[in-house]
Amino acid sequence: MARLLDIIFDLILAVAAVRFIASTFRRFFGPATGHPPRSPHAGFSPGQEKQTIRGETVRDPVCGMFVSTELSHRLEWHGTFLHFCSDECLEQYQKRAAS
Ligand SMILES: [Zn+2]
Repeated sequence: MARLLDIIFDLILAVAAVRFIASTFRRFFGPATGHPPRSPHAGFSPGQEKQTIRGETVRDPVCGMFVSTELSHRLEWHGTFLHFCSDECLEQYQKRAAS
């Protein structure tokens, strides 16, 4: 009788272990069932923010005005970002660089 209880107990442990392994597997290799994967922040491009520190103030190379990198008109220039107070300054810079 005691042996039978031992076997049942072992069986319960085995089932619990299998379930634990299965749930761990799911966590690492994507969910097969249950929670859908969380989508990355919508409407936010993480690649852009890596170029500059958030909230930094930089000088507009055209008019010399200081602009926030968060609010500026950006132009990617030779791997870096240039910041302008307006589209007019941005266009002027592009024209100057082209000539
Ligand atoms: Zn400007």
